[in-house]
Amino acid sequence: MKLAHIGIAVKSLEASVPVFEKIFGVTASDKEFVEEQKVNVRKIHLENCDIELLEGTDDDSPISKFTEKRGEGIHHVSFGVKGMQDLLNSIKADGIRLINETPVTGADDMLVAFLHPKSTNGVLMELTEEKK
Ligand code: ZN
Repeated sequence: MKLAHIGIAVKSLEASVPVFEKIFGVTASDKEFVEEQKVNVRKIHLENCDIELLEGTDDDSPISKFTEKRGEGIHHVSFGVKGMQDLLNSIKADGIRLINETPVTGADDMLVAFLHPKSTNGVLMELTEEKK
């Protein structure tokens, strides 16, 4: 398992992306709309992980709700895994609460599943795996 990316909830990609591009000296990926979460995503590719900037596109997007309630900031930490369904089954059997019991499609057409922050000390954790 490795750190894949850190998801940061922002109110405006237009305002936030240039800041991260300046800090890291890179150009962000093109904007991608993720239907499942109603978010626009742009990624800052770094050597060992990415920063995923997330902007809600609708009031009932989880990201819009997050920024409304808690303001902008770190939304989730994402880990790349292999054999995600087996891992989800196994940690669920160990009593870890899951938001997604089976993976859904996220950014970059990757499989993603979220663990419930009540089980992980308040940190929203995402698992990602390439589709086969
Ligand atoms: Zn993510």
